[in-house]
Amino acid sequence: MSKSYTELLKDERWKWLSSTVKQRDNFTCQRCGSIENLEVHHTKYTSYLPWETPEQYLITLCYDCHKAAHYNDRSEKAAKWWEDIKKMAELYGTPIRLPLDTK
Ligand SMILES: [Zn+2]
Ligand SMILES: [Zn+2]
Repeated sequence: MSKSYTELLKDERWKWLSSTVKQRDNFTCQRCGSIENLEVHHTKYTSYLPWETPEQYLITLCYDCHKAAHYNDRSEKAAKWWEDIKKMAELYGTPIRLPLDTK
């Protein structure tokens, strides 16, 4: 009865919210500045429904940075990414934790 997370991401409400977030971030990856292959990442999950997450917990990332975020690897890129996320969290004044990995 419950939908998979991948299915939920196809929901119109998520499409609408993620395009709002990309617009807010000027269609630019907030980690590396890329403007290609942009995706919206949850820095914190407040609900299983992706569109119920407040905008301050969502950021625009390119595919590569997004992958680094989810795999939480120990590469230099991932380490820098994590530093940036922490800075951003301070800026927004929000607590952060690693996203759930839904592999
Ligand atoms: Zn993500
Ligand atoms: Zn990037």
